Amino acid sequence: MKWLTGPLYLFLIGAITGACSNGSTGGSTGSSTGSSTGSSEIESRARELAERFIIVDTHIDVPYRMTVRTEDISERASYGDFDFPRAREGGLNAPFMSIYVPSVLQKRPGASFQLADSLIDLVEGYEAGHPDKFAVARWPSDLTRHKKRGVVSLPMGMENGSAIEDDLTNLQYFFDRGIRYITLAHALDNQICDAAYDTTRTWGGLSPFGFDAIHEMNRLGIMVDISHITDDAFFDVIETSVAPVIASHSSMRSFTPGWERNMSDEVLSSLAENGGVVMIAFGSAFLKSEYLEKGDALQEELQKYIDEKGFGEDEAFDYLNEQRRLNATGTIVDLVDHIDHAVERVGVDHVGLGSDYDGVFLLPEGLRDVSTYPNLIAELLRRGYSESDIEKILGANLIRVWSEVEEIARNWDTM
Ligand SMILES: [Zn+2]
Repeated sequence: MKWLTGPLYLFLIGAITGACSNGSTGGSTGSSTGSSTGSSEIESRARELAERFIIVDTHIDVPYRMTVRTEDISERASYGDFDFPRAREGGLNAPFMSIYVPSVLQKRPGASFQLADSLIDLVEGYEAGHPDKFAVARWPSDLTRHKKRGVVSLPMGMENGSAIEDDLTNLQYFFDRGIRYITLAHALDNQICDAAYDTTRTWGGLSPFGFDAIHEMNRLGIMVDISHITDDAFFDVIETSVAPVIASHSSMRSFTPGWERNMSDEVLSSLAENGGVVMIAFGSAFLKSEYLEKGDALQEELQKYIDEKGFGEDEAFDYLNEQRRLNATGTIVDLVDHIDHAVERVGVDHVGLGSDYDGVFLLPEGLRDVSTYPNLIAELLRRGYSESDIEKILGANLIRVWSEVEEIARNWDTM
């Protein structure tokens, strides 16, 4: 999630997650990708690869979306970017459910822990309610097993380490509940480290508690997620972590100069040297500075309109959903430019996908929801990526890192 820390936050963060009105989303290729000879052959090959390879997406904000407007995601949903039918259409096997905790809750001791705990209950409820469609994934090996059974794996990552409050034993608690990565901070500096969106720079990087937290995450086998944190905090993490780290949803800063939320080339190189992986975010705001500016201006304008009209929550929600779709911004070409950039600098072993579906306002044309991964694969094929490269980007790289993190934890006592 990218925006808004003001009073409208709780409402808007949900309102802006809305989606298509009729759900007929599959198969539309980005307009920019053209229709040259052989394009239908590429598209059918892309669909075949989406079906064959494990697709992991490390950041989907379904749980928090449900706190604003509940929907049955086992069927085709009217709102939002994710549900079971569309996940199957897109070939998506392992969407990490983001256990997202807003920074505003940090002021109330215990509130962040409680929200995280209740969102994990919600994800477990999907498995309990629809065992033929969903299964919580706790280990990398679960992903293959679940794929064979035709169910969508639901691994969990926690967005904002604020939820462990000031108690390291909560890391064990959340690990036991299934959390497999933790994004150290979100919009504001917290007890662990500084956040890229915050200008306070409370710690100048990691806090003393944060150094201990990294150590404990390594010991338990929780992946450290460096999305949302400052560069200084990143370099503290990379010097401290004995396991490779991930960026669960970040793109390349060279396309959005000065925007610390995306990764600089220096940060990217350091992450790759450490064996980690950057999961490229799809949101338009991540792809180009002008899209980021457009999104911010548009949200302000829409909010003004909502206020003028005196819309109630439901009306505003529906209006923003509609506007979100009408204002698709950027293209698959833009997104794959980020993948190319990362691959050119650090190689194909360190790049994956972390869409941030259900967590961003504007999305590029052709990537409107979880049914659209084949469109992305088609563009990778057009640019000459091999099948084995595509397999790595779609999921194998993340599975490698997750397995290494797990292995380090398993052998911790002998290290
Ligand atoms: Zn986020």
